[in-house]
Formats: sequence, C-alpha cells, structure tokens
Amino acid sequence: MKVTFLGTGTSQGIPIIGSEHPVCLSENPKDKRLRVSVLVEWDDYAYVVDCGPDFRQQMLNAECKRIDGIVFTHEHADHTMGLDDIRPFFFRQGDIPIYGHERVLTALAHRFDYIFQTKNKYPGAPSVVINEVKNKPFRLGNLDVVPIDGLHDKLQVFGFRFGKFAYLTDMKIVPDEEVAKLQDLDVLVVNALRESPHQSHFNLEEALDFIKKVKPKRAFLTHISHLLGFHDEVQQNLPENVFLAYDNLQITIDHEE
Ligand SMILES: [Zn+2]
Repeated sequence: MKVTFLGTGTSQGIPIIGSEHPVCLSENPKDKRLRVSVLVEWDDYAYVVDCGPDFRQQMLNAECKRIDGIVFTHEHADHTMGLDDIRPFFFRQGDIPIYGHERVLTALAHRFDYIFQTKNKYPGAPSVVINEVKNKPFRLGNLDVVPIDGLHDKLQVFGFRFGKFAYLTDMKIVPDEEVAKLQDLDVLVVNALRESPHQSHFNLEEALDFIKKVKPKRAFLTHISHLLGFHDEVQQNLPENVFLAYDNLQITIDHEE
C-alpha cells in the first residue's frame, strides 16, 4: 500500500495569504502545506481521503490520472471544496463514487446541488455515486475499511483504517472503544495543529499522548498550522517513531488482505 500526503496544512494552508509570519515566509518546501488530504493506493485501487480547495493542484502534483472514489472525514470547507474538480475524472471514468456520513452527504448535496441534481443537469456538471458510511466496516476495492468515530469540537468526524494504515484528522476526542480499533498499526496519521491547546484539534501534546496510547510502529502528524513552527526544527524534538508529514511525502505500508 502506498500513501501520498497530498496536503498537510490546516484550514488556511501555509503560507497564509498576506502573512509575514516566518514560517509562512520559509523557503523550505516542507513548510509549504496545502489543505489536508491523502491518496491511498493498493493493488490497482486509488482512493482520496477528502478533497479540499487544493484538490486540482494536488491531483496534478501526484500525477493522479484515475481515482476509484473520494472518502470524506467531515464536511468542513478545507476538506470538501474541491469537489467540482472531479470533472476530469468524471469525463474519463463516469460517475465518481463518494463515501461519507449521511450528514456530510447532505451538506455536499446542498453546496454542490448541480453535482447531485439528477434532472435538467448542466452539460458539464459531474455526477457522483453516493455511498453512506456508518460506523461499521465498508468495502473499498478489495479491502474492508474501518471507520473510526471521533469528535471535532462537537462535530462528528470519521477517521479510516485501511489494513495496517489509519488516517485520522480533525480529531479532538477519540473514545476508547474507537481507539481499540487501532491496534497493531504499521502507520498512524493523526492531526497536530500547534503547541497551544485548541477547541477542536489535538495540539502537539495531545497528538503525542494519543500516539503513545495507540502504539503504531510509525506515526505521522498532519493538519499543521504555521504556529507549530518550522518543519525541520519541530521534527528534531519528536520521539523516534514520530514524523511531521509534509506535502508530497510518500510512504509504503505492508498490505495484508
Ligand atoms: Zn480541517
């Protein structure tokens, strides 16, 4: 299984428009972060988790020519606003499968009514195949994917376990019965916004505590704010098996059916 970090930044991305914060001015490519998303590929399958406003650029960066579907963690703009840019995939492949909580699908249908409309459709508008995700395993390709149910402040959010890989973003609370689904992972990805506490995201300390609880072989941090600091400096102070993710990073995970 191959995972590509398409974006690792918090909602405004890094650099923030107009910001003169030193991290926003950094020339290190690892300090430039598009909105969070990952491409997960195994066998002949390719799924994207979330498609925020940078989706088009991310698909170009990853040279992604075909996707089997998009899986949504939640409906916030930084995770969904690129949905219009499925058009090139739609023109080539037909209706694009999307997966999400019923509430997320309703929010998408409201924002992107022209995509979900079935009658009198505008000729260039893409179409999707809607798949509701409940808190139980669902099939993607030849794999059973396990949702991990958490809270982003008061909003329900899904993380997803694909075999030995799990991707959790925008988490603040993960109940113990959900943590129990994360045993024996090769790679855990989890959000770590910044050092100071935040209402709806793990800060660095909470993310590191969560990693200690889950005990994956390796962990990668994502959904990063410029306030966390320079990539290279933050990385130096992390535990041995914990890494700051950065855009375009690719990792491989042993894939078991
Ligand atoms: Zn977010």
